[in-house]
Amino acid sequence: MLCLGIESTAHTFACAVVEKNGKIHSDVRKIYRPPEGEGIHPREASRHHIESSTKVLVDSLQQARIKIKDLDIIAYAAGPGLGPCLRVGAVVARSLASYYKIPLYPVHHAIGHIDLGKLLTGAKDPLVLLVSGGHTMLLAFMKEKWRVFGETLDITLGQLLDQFGRSIGFASPCGKNIEELAAKTSTYIQLPYVVKGNDVSFSGLLSATKSISSQKEKACFSLQETAFAMISEATERALSFTKKKELMVVGGVAANKRLSNMLKSICKRQNCKFYVVPQQFAGDCGAQIAWTGLLEATAKKGSALENTFVRQSWRLDSVNINY
Ligand code: AMP
Ligand code: MG
Repeated sequence: MLCLGIESTAHTFACAVVEKNGKIHSDVRKIYRPPEGEGIHPREASRHHIESSTKVLVDSLQQARIKIKDLDIIAYAAGPGLGPCLRVGAVVARSLASYYKIPLYPVHHAIGHIDLGKLLTGAKDPLVLLVSGGHTMLLAFMKEKWRVFGETLDITLGQLLDQFGRSIGFASPCGKNIEELAAKTSTYIQLPYVVKGNDVSFSGLLSATKSISSQKEKACFSLQETAFAMISEATERALSFTKKKELMVVGGVAANKRLSNMLKSICKRQNCKFYVVPQQFAGDCGAQIAWTGLLEATAKKGSALENTFVRQSWRLDSVNINY
């Protein structure tokens, strides 16, 4: 069984063809880059997606050496995300599904990150740390749902890095630029550390880091150390409480080596296995959507076209999972 996965929640328009045995036959992406210092403009990003969609689709089918009629199902990211961007993916998916009569699966983007992470790492029943542009959550699976153990009370870890990066002149996404600057120093400047119960809050940390931004390298280093220590504290508490024997980190920020190193030392203390999604598949991609689509197809039929809306806001812990 072959599935085409279409991702368009934010900056990335991507298509991938994945087989039910877990083989990723193709993975093609185009990323919208706003001008330096600016964030994603939803209208500009959706225009980018419209202009990229034909080439990304054709390239992904060619890379997989298949034709559209060889597809068994199509899955698209139905949310959460930016409305204008989501609609591009949904329109492409609906058009293909209705013209070629292929069953269609609307997929929750973040559940795609988790499912693909499990496929690629082999984690079975992990505590999940989802850190991306759209999410900062600690999750454990129980009774057909991913339950939230802790989360950000304001902006996400990805937004923290991107908003600070933009303020010092980088173009979003800036996590990698910050990681590179941070690696050049080990001088820590005290910044606000806000953990409330199992939740974290990053907005005060963002303002305080902006106030020391003239010392770029030290600011990046101190920002990473503080934010990652906060998230690590919440993670360690969740591991200790849930007694999970696996920790899996997914989402774009999972690409950060310093974050992984901090979490590894926690896992050692808590006697638990550490898994991180391979860097290539940490950020948004079609494979995460295709794989969740394939898993959903084991449990239910495709959605009727009139039920294939997009949802800008869609809580991960509201999704029932019965595969
Ligand atoms: P996603 O929303 O899953 O595509 O993740 C995008 C987020 O990951 C953006 O906020 C990026 O800045 C962040 N990101 C990407 N690479 C890194 C990295 N090496 N270190 C920290 N954050 C990163
Ligand atoms: Mg994402």
